[in-house]
Amino acid sequence: MKSIGFSKEINTGHYLNPFDGFQPKEMTIEERYDEITGVASRILPYRIRPAQKPDLNAYLEKSPESICPFCPDLFEKLTPKFPPEIIEEGKFRRGKACLFPNAFPYDTANSVAIFSFSHLLALDQLTPEEMRDGFAVCRDYFQRIAELQKGYQYCSINWNYMPPAGGGLIHPHLQTIAGVRPTNFMRRLLESASNYEILSNGGHLWRNLLDLEREADERFIASTGAITWLTAFSPKGMAGEIDFYFKEKTSFFDLTEGNFEEWLRGLSRIFYSLYVNHFMSFNLSLYATLTPEKNFWVQGKIVPRFEVNPLGTSDLNYFEKLHNEIICPIAPEQLCKELQQYLPGG
Ligand SMILES: [Zn+2]
Repeated sequence: MKSIGFSKEINTGHYLNPFDGFQPKEMTIEERYDEITGVASRILPYRIRPAQKPDLNAYLEKSPESICPFCPDLFEKLTPKFPPEIIEEGKFRRGKACLFPNAFPYDTANSVAIFSFSHLLALDQLTPEEMRDGFAVCRDYFQRIAELQKGYQYCSINWNYMPPAGGGLIHPHLQTIAGVRPTNFMRRLLESASNYEILSNGGHLWRNLLDLEREADERFIASTGAITWLTAFSPKGMAGEIDFYFKEKTSFFDLTEGNFEEWLRGLSRIFYSLYVNHFMSFNLSLYATLTPEKNFWVQGKIVPRFEVNPLGTSDLNYFEKLHNEIICPIAPEQLCKELQQYLPGG
């Protein structure tokens, strides 16, 4: 089987340690590169994790329900509606959830979905039941978009949970994007898959990646049925990256109710692990095509986000923003072991 393009190199740094009488100290730095995603990272040997539970009250004080456009008092007044040719009622609704156009769009078809009128859901409250309608309404929207035949071929469901991850409101909300063109990162994934097919005489990148990762048993968290969960070899975030792959699902519309249920159960377990480990924030994206694409399986990523105390320092710095490399002080293999306790599977 052709290699899938993981490479790493270990370098050693030295300094005289002020905490040990200035004795020489060695530090290993592992430089990793993932050819599939183009992500370069440096895995550092020391572990940084949030020491205390985050204080959600500080966010609630700055952004109370009384001024929240997604809470019931202001919702109908302040949120945009779709024109009737998209949906007669102006918004997509299902149970407690609602989807409407993004007032600050990134693309021509960019919408926002709220799960319910609950202003704050902590990470341990993100159960499948709480999340179900919010994701279902995203599916309804993509179905309508497909019916309208506007040439959209690529889609994503995205989530900036809480302000450290870029969430502009603490009221939990998803964002969907449907596009004629893929985003830059999704283009990379599509190109990697077609390059792999050519270079391996017909090999399938995602099938081989999952087979190799299962065999290596280093970053393979679990297979929960239709979904395989991995930690990324070269993560996109300082606290690592968790990936999910819907096996053999080559379009968003291949996903069944059962696949969504399985996904929500897995997500809620991952979010609970973040809660236990004092994280308070994450980015999530699910990437899919809207028409069958044999070289692309529906997949996505979760990157935990945090502020570094005591100053609330950002977990992004010059290395990521200006050098396109990620500093990650947790080995993906270690993160995988920890997550296996939360996400048991085959
Ligand atoms: Zn609210």
